Amino acid sequence: MNGPSAEERYARQIRFAKIGTAGQRKLGEACVAIVGVGALGCVIANHLARAGVGRLILIDRDIVDRTNLQRQLLYDENDAAAGLPKAVAAAGRLAAVNSGIAIEPRAVDLSSANAETLLGAADLIVDGTDNFGARYLINEVAVKSGVPWIYGAAVGASGMTATIRPGVTPCLRCLFPNTPPGGSLDTCETAGVLAPIVDTIASIQAMEAIKLLTGQTEALHGSLLQIDLWHHQWQPLALSGAKRADCPVCAERRFAALDSFAAEPMTAALCGRHTVQVSPAEPASLDLELLANRWSRLGEVELTPYLLRLRLPEPEGALFSLFPDGRALVSGTDEPVVARRIYASLVGE
Ligand SMILES: [Zn+2]
Repeated sequence: MNGPSAEERYARQIRFAKIGTAGQRKLGEACVAIVGVGALGCVIANHLARAGVGRLILIDRDIVDRTNLQRQLLYDENDAAAGLPKAVAAAGRLAAVNSGIAIEPRAVDLSSANAETLLGAADLIVDGTDNFGARYLINEVAVKSGVPWIYGAAVGASGMTATIRPGVTPCLRCLFPNTPPGGSLDTCETAGVLAPIVDTIASIQAMEAIKLLTGQTEALHGSLLQIDLWHHQWQPLALSGAKRADCPVCAERRFAALDSFAAEPMTAALCGRHTVQVSPAEPASLDLELLANRWSRLGEVELTPYLLRLRLPEPEGALFSLFPDGRALVSGTDEPVVARRIYASLVGE
C-alpha cells in the first residue's frame, strides 16, 4: 500500500485507549452496509471510511441533485451536472480519501427481492434512509440474520437514533409497531432540514458503529435518543422494557416486509426531490444503448456508464433516468400516475 502505514494513518485513533491496535484491527476486518447515502449516509460513510472500516457497501437509489448540496457533504456541482448515482459519487470521493479499504457502490433500491443479498455480507447495517418502508425491511433482515443495525432520522432541527441488537434490545417494530400514517410526520419536504442535526445524528450513529465493531457493547447509549438542536434538548428514552412480547418480527419471527413481493411496477415519491421512482416487478437487464438510439428522436438523450437519461420536451419537460435493472427516476413530477404513464410509454408495461 502506498502512503502512510496503517499505524501512521490511524495513529490518533489507536492512541484512544478504548480502540488501541486490537480495536483498529477489528475495524479493518469489518464489513458495514450503509443504506442510503443522502445527508445522514454521507456523514456516516465519511467517518467509517476514514476510521478504516475494511469494507463498506454503499446502497442508494437516487442520483445527485443540486438541492442535495446544502447538506450532503460528499457531493459537488460536477456530480449533480453529471447525474451520477449517489452510491457511485460517494464511493469515488471516499476511495480518494482511503485507498486501503474496499468500497462497493450499489446504485439500487433496497427491496424485498434484494435486501438479503445486498445486506448478507454485513457485520453491521447503518440506516441512512428517509422512510419507514426501507427501515422495516432493514429491521427484518437484521432480526432474521442476527446482525445489529443503527436507526437514524433527521428532519427540521430534530432527529432520533437507536442502536438495535437482535436478541438483546427491542427491534424497530417494538418501538414503532405501525408505519406512522402519511401526513402525520414532518418530512424534509414539509419541514426542511438543517445540516447540523444531520451531522449530529449521523455522528452518533458512526460512534455507535465503532463501539459495536470493536466489541464494546457496554458503551452503547442504550436508548431511543431524541435530539432537538434548535431548543437544545437531548432526551434518551431507555430501551430496556420496550421489547414487546407480541412483536411480529423479533418475538414471532414473521417477516412480512421481506416476504412481500410486487406483482406490478411499484412507485415511490422521493422526499423533497419532485421525483417519482418506478421499479419493475421483476428486475430486468436492459440494453441501454439500444434504447438510447430509439429515444434519440424523442428528446435530449445522454448515456452514462450507470444510466440512460432522456429530457422530454415541454409541456412534459420531465427528466427520465433509467437504470440497467429497469428501475427509473422520473423527475419533474410528484404524481405516481404520471410517472407510470411516462414509464409505460418509454420502457413498456
Ligand atoms: Zn420487535
